[in-house]
Amino acid sequence: MAHKARKRFGQNFLQDQYYQFQIADSLQLQQPDHWVEIGPGQGAITDHIAGQCDLLELIELDRDLVAMLEKRYYGNDSIKIYSQDALSVDFCALVKTNPVRLVGNLPYNISTPLIFHFLKQRECIQDAHFLLQKEVVDRMVAVPGEKAYGKLSVMIQQAFQVLSLFDIPPEAFHPAPKVQSSFVRLTPHLSPIVDVDDQAVFADLVKMAFVQKRKTLHNNLKTIISDDALKSIDINPSCRAETLTLEQFAAISNLLGKQ
Ligand code: SAM
Repeated sequence: MAHKARKRFGQNFLQDQYYQFQIADSLQLQQPDHWVEIGPGQGAITDHIAGQCDLLELIELDRDLVAMLEKRYYGNDSIKIYSQDALSVDFCALVKTNPVRLVGNLPYNISTPLIFHFLKQRECIQDAHFLLQKEVVDRMVAVPGEKAYGKLSVMIQQAFQVLSLFDIPPEAFHPAPKVQSSFVRLTPHLSPIVDVDDQAVFADLVKMAFVQKRKTLHNNLKTIISDDALKSIDINPSCRAETLTLEQFAAISNLLGKQ
């Protein structure tokens, strides 16, 4: 029986073969690679990776789809299927020798929490290719001063080089989502692009700085840093977080660590 798409699992299946091939082409598949796919669904992307790598691990929450995938890839020893919530997966525990390559047409309802979950495990990730709402990718690539620049931009850009590869229209999916989608490649920086002494302090700072986007640094950060301390590193307390560069966030975070 055909599978009925479930909204609660963010199911929008990529049906258009042109875009399936375009995704497969951009993955730069190589035999020894170890891939992990988030939300394989009915195998739209999976089919293109299966047989092109040493190991492909599939993480799918919907048990009906897991049963379908088990049938579809029965006898293929290079594929392992996990019936699990990707938010609870320890990707570092999956690593054999080299970091894993992640791919997924992510369920849009939980794409941002998933991205933050991957961020915490970045050292175990070789690269990641995600299909996301265009609006989320716009936030990932935004630069200071742009409307879309915020917590996601800063956190992602500190960890990864972000490349928006191409857009996909709603009609390519079934059911069609209400919004445009974009396919993005994230590659961890080989060496840090800014020096951050303590990643946890940096993450807390970025969260607080953007807690009320329209408010000044003075307002959002007054409980953790004084105006004079900000001025001592040439940062104006009356500006907003949306104007700060990665270097400036790193400078505040490193000063906080020393306090
Ligand atoms: N990859 C397929 C495609 O491109 O057609 C399906 C993509 S669909 C947008 C998202 C997939 O993620 C669905 O198969 C859904 O069941 C699965 N999913 C939803 N929440 C999940 C979670 N927390 N962990 C793992 N998979 C999840």
